[in-house]
Amino acid sequence: MRKHGRQGPKSRKAHSRVGAWLAIAIVAVIGAVPVSPSGAQNARPRGFAPLPVVTSVRVYVLDCGTLIYNRPEDYGLSREEVANSNMSVSCFLVMHPKGLLLFDTGLSDRLVGRPIYENIIGGYAQLKLNTLRGQLADIGVTPDKITYLALSHSHYDHVGNANDYAGATWLARRAEYDVMFRPGAPAGAGRDYSALAQSPTKFIEGDYDVFGDGSVVLKPTPGHTPGHQSLYVRLANTGGVVIAGDLYHYPEERTLGRMPAREKTTETPASRAAIEKFLQQTHSQLWIGHSIAFFRDARKAPAWYD
Ligand SMILES: [Zn+2]
Repeated sequence: MRKHGRQGPKSRKAHSRVGAWLAIAIVAVIGAVPVSPSGAQNARPRGFAPLPVVTSVRVYVLDCGTLIYNRPEDYGLSREEVANSNMSVSCFLVMHPKGLLLFDTGLSDRLVGRPIYENIIGGYAQLKLNTLRGQLADIGVTPDKITYLALSHSHYDHVGNANDYAGATWLARRAEYDVMFRPGAPAGAGRDYSALAQSPTKFIEGDYDVFGDGSVVLKPTPGHTPGHQSLYVRLANTGGVVIAGDLYHYPEERTLGRMPAREKTTETPASRAAIEKFLQQTHSQLWIGHSIAFFRDARKAPAWYD
């Protein structure tokens, strides 16, 4: 250090020449190594995107995993009848001027990086490439920013990260709540939502207008589970959208009029009929979160629908 402090003008000049050569060498090396835009994006620290200030409603479609599955027969369909027997797992964030609603939390973030043979439940192999938390951070949303949490229902592929959002007000239906916290439960998926027992909870009934202006409405669609619900969002440019939850899994259930045998004696037929009527009345489209075709074609976060 002392030596550097005594450098004369000549010595500094020599150093600056070396520096120039170094800079040229670095540019040459960087130039020779292609840096992919996606790689650069992944290297960006997460959580630094600012939370957008919105003046109209947005919906973000989030990748919450994939279920590798080959028994469409369980849904009343032959393998020839379905275009793809696997299922996407989608989560949805609604951004409204008055707050944020997270609808479903998908497969657990802890599955990311794990091989599917470790995580097979009833023939469904769970694959997760992205965390929900990271995708939300990329659009400026940390868990404490979520105003409301709503679940279509309490199956494991919809509640995987529910504990992360237990600080939000949970919009719950009593029939589903009773299933989730009945004596003996929670087991299995229960560990992923156990923190909701301490959440600020609002029990809702019938059609529930989340922000009070008719643009975001939780609609009861029981059958698949006792307290199953779907979500209607009215968007300025996209129009009306109904996010089905598990009212349907495969799009062919809708086009061919099929359903799991177990559900034929539940409220599923009535719930489907009510939603189909609502879709017609409001000229809305139906988004089936488990449909591979839906997710493939969807505008995915960080892009959005408005
Ligand atoms: Zn599901």
